[in-house]
Amino acid sequence: MTDSLLLNEERQMIRDTARDFTLKEVLPVANRLDPEQGEIPLELRQKLTDMGYFGIRLPEKYGGSGLGCFEYCLITEQLARGWMSVSSIIARGNGTLTMDLLSDEQKNRLMPKVVAGEYLGAMSLSEPDTGSDLASISCRAEKTIDGWEITGNKYWCTFADGADYILLFARTDVDKSGEKPHLGISAFLIEKPRGKLPLGVSGSTIPKIGYFGWNTWELAFDHVRLPHDALIGEEGKAFYALAKGLDEARAHTAARSIGLAQGGLEDALAYAQERKQFGKPIAAFQDLRFKLARMATDIEAARQLLYYVCSCIDTGQRCDKEASMVKYFASEMAERVTSDALQILGGAGYTKLCAVERHWRDARLTKIFEGTSEIQLRIISDALLGKEGR
Ligand SMILES: Cc1cc2nc3c(=O)[nH]c(=O)nc-3n(C[C@H](O)[C@H](O)[C@H](O)COP(=O)(O)OP(=O)(O)OC[C@H]3O[C@@H](n4cnc5c(N)ncnc54)[C@H](O)[C@@H]3O)c2cc1C
Repeated sequence: MTDSLLLNEERQMIRDTARDFTLKEVLPVANRLDPEQGEIPLELRQKLTDMGYFGIRLPEKYGGSGLGCFEYCLITEQLARGWMSVSSIIARGNGTLTMDLLSDEQKNRLMPKVVAGEYLGAMSLSEPDTGSDLASISCRAEKTIDGWEITGNKYWCTFADGADYILLFARTDVDKSGEKPHLGISAFLIEKPRGKLPLGVSGSTIPKIGYFGWNTWELAFDHVRLPHDALIGEEGKAFYALAKGLDEARAHTAARSIGLAQGGLEDALAYAQERKQFGKPIAAFQDLRFKLARMATDIEAARQLLYYVCSCIDTGQRCDKEASMVKYFASEMAERVTSDALQILGGAGYTKLCAVERHWRDARLTKIFEGTSEIQLRIISDALLGKEGR
């Protein structure tokens, strides 16, 4: 790995510690459990807590580390090199989005529990008919005398069972002009027992092709009652809080992509030097050497762009275009690089006996969630050309 100018000694130490942790604690668990679609064990969650990984972004006054997006992404990349779901679960703690929506009293009460790994969330935004066009969600929250009543269907809610709460986005109002559909969306904190869906919510798991380690759910809310204080943030304005967190969410996904690609590269490098054909290691064939060189170059280009974006986020510089660029570039790169890694392993790559197939399946997802590649291209081209259709 090339050390960037932005990687001071403290950051290198944070990265190297996360790498050692991943190789010792995450990778063996992933290799064992992913082939059987197992869940991230509670012991591993406890180890993530002990490392402080649920509180990287949270202020020290709550017991967090008070570190920046840069450090958060350095750790994320390393964890993703082991198992993508583990690099994702830390985002269910660090939640800067939830931080923005909570009152001071709620932060004082809940944030120390987040840092302790005892208050991790699932995000419920997507619906069967609403994915990329999130402003169009239709799940309704009606005000009642004693609180709220939620009715509607949600889709793709990862960790709905294992989490301690679900952060639900539902419509409390409809913009009658139809020009500002993002207005009228509100956020609700639904607390629940770990291991179960919230009372009154039914659901089933979606048979996804990867991203194992936790379940992803389809949920049905049928007149589910919530107390008044389940509403967090300003009524009807939750979309603004969502939009505020997008740059960091995209950087986090880019870091996950880079970690997956790095895993593919390392596995391919090792295999190419061990495997012999035609009387020599396959790493002696120029086509393979060049393939590995291209993979490493691609990864480093994505990583350096990510460092730039993280620095902008940490110093408060606007970088929405660049955040989309790095999410787009890193996720497309990860699919390409992990596919090349699989190719280098030949038939062995196409088995569940080697981790490369996991990196490849998980990399495929990074092009879809947190805004698809096409949505990133739309944002970038709008920045270059002005909004589409205007
Ligand atoms: C494994 C997994 C886990 C997930 N976890 C969660 C979760 O925890 N919480 C949650 O809320 N959501 C989650 N999601 C949902 C995810 O964020 C959505 O799948 C994603 O936003 C895309 O939405 P969609 O699948 O409905 O695709 P659609 O929006 O229907 O898009 C279909 C295709 O059309 C393209 N398209 C759409 N609009 C445009 C446009 N304007 N221009 C060009 N192309 C366009 C898309 O790029 C895509 O190729 C998860 C998804 C998966 C697969």
